[in-house]
Amino acid sequence: MTRPATQKLETLAVRGGEPRSHAYHSVSTPIACTATYAFEDSRAIQEHFAGRSERHEYGRYGNPTVEVAERKLAALEGAEDALLFPSGMNAVTTLLLAMLRPGDHIVVTSDLYRRTRQFVVSVLARYGIEHTFIEPDDLDAAERALAKPRTRLLLTEAPSNPYLRIVDVARMAELASAARAKLIVDATLATPCNLRPLELGAHVVLHSCTKYLGGHNDLLAGVLCGNAALIGALRDARGIFGGMPDAHAAYLLLRGLKTLHVRMRQHNESGLRIAEFLGQHERVARLFYPGLPSHPDHALAQRQLKGFGGVISFRLAADGVTTSRFVDGCRLASIGASMGGVETLIQQPALLAHSELSPEERAAIGAHDDLVRLSVGLEHTDDLIADLSQALNAAFHA
Ligand code: PLP
Repeated sequence: MTRPATQKLETLAVRGGEPRSHAYHSVSTPIACTATYAFEDSRAIQEHFAGRSERHEYGRYGNPTVEVAERKLAALEGAEDALLFPSGMNAVTTLLLAMLRPGDHIVVTSDLYRRTRQFVVSVLARYGIEHTFIEPDDLDAAERALAKPRTRLLLTEAPSNPYLRIVDVARMAELASAARAKLIVDATLATPCNLRPLELGAHVVLHSCTKYLGGHNDLLAGVLCGNAALIGALRDARGIFGGMPDAHAAYLLLRGLKTLHVRMRQHNESGLRIAEFLGQHERVARLFYPGLPSHPDHALAQRQLKGFGGVISFRLAADGVTTSRFVDGCRLASIGASMGGVETLIQQPALLAHSELSPEERAAIGAHDDLVRLSVGLEHTDDLIADLSQALNAAFHA
């Protein structure tokens, strides 16, 4: 039995999409580790294709463990349905390839995740799908771009990264709907705990579950949540494109989701406290955290978000070499890509996320040599602050 959607997010995280007990009377979800499913006889095959029996046919079209994760994700987002993928990028690419045709036009915010941006610019363009970039706060530009014939969708992120820009989801949804386009919101950094895009009018919510939803830096997955008709069509597309997640990853995701609300409460609290510490530090030239008044989108963030998350970006009053020395000097934070896990991660995007770009290209997207991105984990904030503090002191006094 699925829990009714009237329950609170905390209850949905633990119980949403799950029966009170599973096969073998198991309380936790069994991992259905099978590539295919056996039919009793030929008549059972005919019953299945006539739509008279509910069952699975082949692993690329469905898996019981994956479906529990999908039901829980739909419950958490307040969506009619959800579709899981082996990575966030696979969710993005399946969505865009399934929804768009040659000659279509899409509107995208300029600070999209770099691989999504790359897909739009270098892959979709090859198939004759045009795009217009807009700044996240430029609603007039959004309206103008949406007016272009054959505009099918507006794709944005809230918050974006590394600068944590916030779009006005409700206004974007109005503009998209008025233009008969769909608003797609990548809410990876917010999670359903901090942002409710569907309630604000978005048509599809997208997540890289690799980040906060999984939450333990131990799986890759992506999800699309939306109405049953659209997600159903995308499910058919997934069966052709082949982006079916593995049952083990779905199990890890389910396990992570059960503590999402508890983890996010702490990420929000620790993120704010560490942002306040860094914002006052003499070696930090600029800090970007939507929970602080110094952020350009703070007012909108306060109105739209329930919490500001654990991702903080900041520029040191230093060159790239000193910035690397600071990052290398951290003893608690691991140096690495990604975010949203229990372990704090730190990186200098100019060296890691954007290493393949030229210095000019990096400057154009704001990946300055002195920029640091921190994903605050669940270690104690006193210990994290002590670590950041000693690394800053050591880097500047070397
Ligand atoms: N969307 C955002 C905002 C991301 O940050 C990422 C990855 O960093 C993705 C999508 C892609 O997700 P994945 O790495 O799970 O493919």
